[in-house]
Amino acid sequence: MESIAVLGLGRMGHGIASCLLARGYHVTVWNRSRAKAASLLQAGAVWSDSPAAAAREASVVIAMLADDAASAAVWLGAAGALENMQPGSFVIECSTISAVHVTKLAATAKEHDLIYIDCPVTGLPEAAAAGNLTLLVGADPVDLERIRPVLTSMSAVIRHFGPVGTGTAYKLLINLMGAVQIAALAEGLALAESLGLDRETVITAIENSAAASPQVVRYTRRMAERNFAEQPAFTTSLRHKDAAYGVALATSAGSPALLGEVATSWFAAASVIKPDQDEAAVLNVMKQPS
Ligand code: NAP
Repeated sequence: MESIAVLGLGRMGHGIASCLLARGYHVTVWNRSRAKAASLLQAGAVWSDSPAAAAREASVVIAMLADDAASAAVWLGAAGALENMQPGSFVIECSTISAVHVTKLAATAKEHDLIYIDCPVTGLPEAAAAGNLTLLVGADPVDLERIRPVLTSMSAVIRHFGPVGTGTAYKLLINLMGAVQIAALAEGLALAESLGLDRETVITAIENSAAASPQVVRYTRRMAERNFAEQPAFTTSLRHKDAAYGVALATSAGSPALLGEVATSWFAAASVIKPDQDEAAVLNVMKQPS
């Protein structure tokens, strides 16, 4: 069985590591702040003091980190993973990172004779812990088949979009669409409040409307009730990051993303105020509670 290192034990990485442990893999873990590893160590994971140390022992290294800066530090930094991996090992980057960063990481991995799997995900932290993620993969088909047993252990669905970079491209476009939908919901709810419409009636009506995408349904009540602090699954700063990477990708492809740009600016404002608050708090930058 593969020996797997998981780098980054936030809401998503912690779930991935616990799921792989539950499936019987030997799992080594590292996180910038060790406290988040506690329950995993009790469940049998092995702690490493650096990404480099974790990577040396593993044939598969999975990262689940906040953004480009975190990913660059962990894979390419002074005690980074890439330089320390055994040739022929798998680099599985699950973080949502920019298209430009994927290109750089994949090229560096190739220089070290490593196999890069572009593997952002959809699904909430509960899905990560239960092995129910959807993986959005960009990879050589032969490489994907070789690593499929590990990927299947952490996911319910694997969508293969094409070569390295295509998984991230799709992830960024779908999350940009999500940003637009959530910002549009916030605008609608702000207007409903300004008009003095009855809140419960509006919630029920939106949830059953033609505009009720799963994303909209997920957030209508939480946003209308301004219930932002309770265990955020996805924060204003992560949404802003994803949307900004999506707009950058659209710009580089010469494809218009005017709605995406506006949504990005709403989430930029929300994340400046409270970066760790639930992304539904974008409503607060449009309209303060009355
Ligand atoms: P999170 O709970 O905020 O965890 C972020 C992780 O990145 C933590 O392990 C954190 O370490 C680490 N990190 C941040 N900056 C770092 C740095 N400079 N150097 C090293 N490590 C750093 O976020 P999450 O919700 O797990 O999300 C992780 C990734 O999954 C993101 O790319 C996100 O967009 C994507 N994603 C999230 C969801 C979701 O529902 N949450 C769904 C799909 C995809 P510390 O613990 O030390 O802070």
